[in-house]
Amino acid sequence: MNTPVISSDKKEKSTILVWKIIQILMWLVGVVIVFCLLFYPVLGIHLFWNILIPVAPLLLVVATGLWRNICPMASTALFPRHINISKRIKLTTKHQEVLSLVAIFSLFLIVPLRHIVFNTNGFATAVLILSIGIVAFTMGIIFDWKSGWCSSLCPIHPVEKLYGNKAILKLKNAHCNSCVKCVTPCPDTTLNIQPFSSKKSNYQKISKVLLIGGFPGFIWGWFQVPDYNEIITIENFIESYKLPMVGLFTTSTLFFLLTKILTPKKQLLTNLYSFAAVACYYWFRLPALVGFGMFKTDGMLIDLAPYLPEEMIKGSIIVSSIFFFWWLVLKKQTKKSWLIRPVYKTI
Ligand code: SF4
Repeated sequence: MNTPVISSDKKEKSTILVWKIIQILMWLVGVVIVFCLLFYPVLGIHLFWNILIPVAPLLLVVATGLWRNICPMASTALFPRHINISKRIKLTTKHQEVLSLVAIFSLFLIVPLRHIVFNTNGFATAVLILSIGIVAFTMGIIFDWKSGWCSSLCPIHPVEKLYGNKAILKLKNAHCNSCVKCVTPCPDTTLNIQPFSSKKSNYQKISKVLLIGGFPGFIWGWFQVPDYNEIITIENFIESYKLPMVGLFTTSTLFFLLTKILTPKKQLLTNLYSFAAVACYYWFRLPALVGFGMFKTDGMLIDLAPYLPEEMIKGSIIVSSIFFFWWLVLKKQTKKSWLIRPVYKTI
């Protein structure tokens, strides 16, 4: 009589084991990348900025839950909880909103620094990753489950919410073994989570306009700036921020005005802006990866310019834009969350 229970229990345990193995492997990949950044900077920069980071937006669009389960930084932040040394403090909704706003500001402050230092300096990138790791680990020591980092302060989390509202995979939550409602709403387990879909506080309103509205312009502006390889001047510093901020201001102002005019179509507007952001990213990033970038060597993984016709690259960015338009704008909502909610903790 007990056979089905035992076999489903076994299946559950083996599923968790598989996820744990993948998490450890991904964490080791992170360690290898940091090692390369420190001791083999050219290789480390390729691995991190020219392979991992260009894949990330696509992964966030099509499989946000997968990324939430295997992200090495998430494993770092949740390690204290897994080994029971977290103080498990509950973050209030207000503090969560403030941290989310800080995450958005961090994103807009850190990314332009890539042109100044991180894109070309492996040591600086390693220090950045290690510093973020220390913050993530500390948040995990203080706050319960994903509330302190993965669902609030992580600078990638706002982008997960922006891109990941059409989940097709609903995977097991490979971190939380029971749900203590550490965040409300939980981004992992809420159906079709929308960026800032909960109560509208002022923090959320600002976050919404800055992230949804500002991200496409910010990305466009970022790609208009070259990497500075030599001694950095104050002018370089200003240039690195100028166009991304002009873009951010322009598209966020337009978004703000459109939300006033198109009140019933806000979801469509959000989807169009998500599409514009990710399509713009790949519009510039795909050519740059293979030697067709605006600034020849910036962000180049391999130089295929002598071998590939430019039309082929143009074709690939048009195809990628059509794909993202279909996925983010035309495709129906799937009524799925990124991850399956674990059972609620009862004591
Ligand atoms: S599933 Fe529950 S415990 Fe895990 S992150 Fe979501 S709200 Fe927190």
